[in-house]
Amino acid sequence: MRGRALVSGRGCRVTDASGREYLDARSALWNASLGYDNRAVAEAIAHQLATLPVAQSIRHDQPAEITLRYAERLVAVLPEHLRHVRLCTTGAQAVEGAVFLSRFTRIVGGDPDRTHVIAQLDGYHGIGGLATAITGEPDVHALHGPLTPGVHHVRPWDLDHLRAEVERIGPDRVTAIVLEPVLGTGVQEAPPGHLAEVQRLCQEHGIHFVIDEVSTGFGRTGALTVTGELGLRPDMVLLSKGISSGYVPLAAIATTSEVLAAATARPGVVLPHGSTGDGNPVAAAAGLAVLDELADGRVLANVGERSEQLERALSALDGVVAVRARGLMIGVDLDADAGTVAELRLRCREEGLLLSTAGSTVVLTPPLVITSEDCEELVARLDRSMRATLPER
Ligand code: PMP
Repeated sequence: MRGRALVSGRGCRVTDASGREYLDARSALWNASLGYDNRAVAEAIAHQLATLPVAQSIRHDQPAEITLRYAERLVAVLPEHLRHVRLCTTGAQAVEGAVFLSRFTRIVGGDPDRTHVIAQLDGYHGIGGLATAITGEPDVHALHGPLTPGVHHVRPWDLDHLRAEVERIGPDRVTAIVLEPVLGTGVQEAPPGHLAEVQRLCQEHGIHFVIDEVSTGFGRTGALTVTGELGLRPDMVLLSKGISSGYVPLAAIATTSEVLAAATARPGVVLPHGSTGDGNPVAAAAGLAVLDELADGRVLANVGERSEQLERALSALDGVVAVRARGLMIGVDLDADAGTVAELRLRCREEGLLLSTAGSTVVLTPPLVITSEDCEELVARLDRSMRATLPER
C-alpha cells in the first residue's frame, strides 16, 4: 500500500513511491480533469494562498471578493435560467444542500409535508446522511444502517415506474426528483427525450427537478453541462469534481430565481444550511482558473476528438462487446463476468493503467487533456491486460 501511494504527477500520469508510473484513465476520482500539472490552476491557487487563504463562508456577511467574482463567472457559463449559485465543498454536500433548498421552499411556503425525494437505482450521489440515502446502490445502503427516510428509488430510465412512484407517494408530497443525466455506474445514458419527460412530469406537479452533474459536468461529456447541451430547464444543477479539476475540493448548487425567491420569501430568513469552508477563496481561485482554461474551447474540442479515437480503438479489441462513449466518460462492456473484470482492473494497474470497473464494464474517464499518444498507450495497456486476464475464446 505504502509503495503504491502516489508522490507526483505530470500530464495524465502519476508516479508512486516505488517509482512506478501509471497512465491515469480515471482522473483520480473523475476529478483531475486538467491533468496533474496545470500551471495556471496551480499558480492561481498559490497566489490566493499568499493573498487571502481563508474568509468567512458565503453564508455570512463578509465573504471573499474572489468568491463573489467566481460565483458570477460560474453563473455566466451555465444555462441562462440558472441565475444563482451556492458554493460548497463536496458533491455530497451539493446533493444534500439541493434537497435542503427544495424542502426549505416548502417550509417557507407553508407546505412543510412536501418532503419526499425520488432518485434512480444505480445512481451515485455521495456519502453523507441524506446523500447516502439518495445514492441508489443497495450494497451501499446495506453498509450504512438506518437510512434517512423519505427517499425512494425507481429503475433507471423507466418513466412508467417514475410516474407510478410519484402517484403512489402523492404528487403533492414529492419535493424533488434527483437524477444523473448519465449514470456514472457503467456509463448508462438517459434515452433520448427521457430527461425532458421527467422535466415535464416535475413541472406538472410542482416538483423540483435536480440534475446531478457532479461527474458529467465541466467538460467530461464534451459540453460544460448536459443540461445546457440538451436545452433542459431543471430547477437545480449540481457541480463538483471538474469545476476545480480536483486541485482543491469545490462544489456548487446552481438554481433559479424562482427557487431562491421561494426560499427567501419570508423577510429576514437566512438559509440555515452550509459549512464553514463554503466558498473558500482558494477553491474560488481554482474555479476561476479552470473557467479560464476552458474558455477558448480547446479542451472541450479535445474531449470530442479523443472520445472518437478511443471509441474506435476500443471497439476493435478482442473481448469487447460494446463501447458507450459520452465524451471522455466511456463504458466498455466486456465478454467476462464481474469477478474477472475486477481482476482485470488489478492487472491493468500492474500494466501501469488506472481505471474503474462496474460489473462487466470497464469505465474510462481520463483527463480531458489526454493526448492522442496517451490514448494509444491506454488502449495498448488495456489490450495486454485483457489478453492476460480474460478467458480464451
Ligand atoms: N454525485 C455524483 C454524480 C458523483 O459522481 C459523486 C462522486 N462520485 C457525488 C455526487 C459525490 O461527490 P463527493 O464524493 O465529492 O461527495
